Amino acid sequence: MSKPPGWYRAGLPHIWLPYTQMAAEPPPVAVAATDGTRIRLADGRELIDGIASWWTACHGYNHPHIVAAIREQAEKMPHVMFGGLVHEGAMRLAARLAALAPGDLGRVFFSDSGSTAVEVALKMALQYHVNRGEAGRERFVCFDGGYHGDTVAAMSVSDDAGFARAFRGLLPGQIRLPLPRGDEGRAAYARALDEHGKSIAGVIFEPSAQGAGGMIFHDDATLRAVVEEAQARGIPVIADEIFTGFHRTGPLFACTGAGVVPDILCLGKALTGGAVGMGATLARPHIFDAFSGNDLDAAFMHGPTFMANPIACAAANASLDLFETEPRARQVAAINDALTDGLAPAARIAGTADVRVKGAIGVVELQALSLERLYALRAAFIEAGLWVRPFGRIVYLTPAFTMSRADLDALSAGICRVLAEV
Ligand code: PMP
Repeated sequence: MSKPPGWYRAGLPHIWLPYTQMAAEPPPVAVAATDGTRIRLADGRELIDGIASWWTACHGYNHPHIVAAIREQAEKMPHVMFGGLVHEGAMRLAARLAALAPGDLGRVFFSDSGSTAVEVALKMALQYHVNRGEAGRERFVCFDGGYHGDTVAAMSVSDDAGFARAFRGLLPGQIRLPLPRGDEGRAAYARALDEHGKSIAGVIFEPSAQGAGGMIFHDDATLRAVVEEAQARGIPVIADEIFTGFHRTGPLFACTGAGVVPDILCLGKALTGGAVGMGATLARPHIFDAFSGNDLDAAFMHGPTFMANPIACAAANASLDLFETEPRARQVAAINDALTDGLAPAARIAGTADVRVKGAIGVVELQALSLERLYALRAAFIEAGLWVRPFGRIVYLTPAFTMSRADLDALSAGICRVLAEV
């Protein structure tokens, strides 16, 4: 391995990394470039990327169609404020998202990240009640194992097991329930909704797959139970499809696959094909209509400086072009088969608790994972030429949909080999 570049050595004493014990963890890996499903390191090595940059780069990195759209937009107008001004990219994107989203989710509020899309959704649901004169609906129903972002309100509706532990004192108390699995789960959920009655502002959940909370899957019956029981009681449902949207679990949106229409939908991550940060919160007409009138107090009081950034819109429109023209659904089905075959041997390795695959998500859950072994596994994957980054007790793959069978097999075989050896 060659000496790290000057910029790496100069920056290392100053950079503060996410979710990182800076005193103990091995130093980060210097990246020089990305290409397709590869990460090129500054020392010349190349890694097959099993994570797609936190589940975003669904078309592979540097897709020429997205790069061209960004370049063209950057020359024309990198940014313009969205207060009182609109631009073609945002208008086209809003109309396209409204057409693709389940049912009549026809109003799009843009923001700059997934967490912000969630904050927007929570504020929308809350003010919806205020505007309709139903004060006191201020608490959200959320679920064990859920994760919705690192900003304060998003943290408050996430599972408090890890990410939010230090901040409990700051967080508004929400109503956290088990996911309503099976008939009994559904009945218990319905009872809890009745019990909390008019204190509930909304329900927020990740349809089909809970991501950062542990890559936990649930079936369509559970998904439908969450939505139907709440909607039967007039409680708005927020579907956070920031992870699951754009085919990650199979269908374009997990809600579409289950045949339900949430009242509010959050998108992010793969929205721009992973090229630029962007969030979008979509609302149905009854939500939007509650904000209409002559009263400025009834308007939605939110507006991130970089909302609907034209470069992000250009990337997102280009990404939607690719979803229209490329066989992404078929590729996800093929990835599902490849990961199912490739990860199966991991079930026989001592210490494996579960192996599961849904869409283009493959998971090996371990019975336990010490910090020492976590760091050792991460290093061993890099040694093996793979970018796989376990967290908690989870070793997982969320590859780009364009990944070849050979690379998928290399990732799966690498996971099985490293888990057996390290
Ligand atoms: N919701 C879900 C389901 C997510 O997976 C994430 C990010 N992991 C977020 C919200 C937050 O998105 P961001 O990191 O872009 O703020």
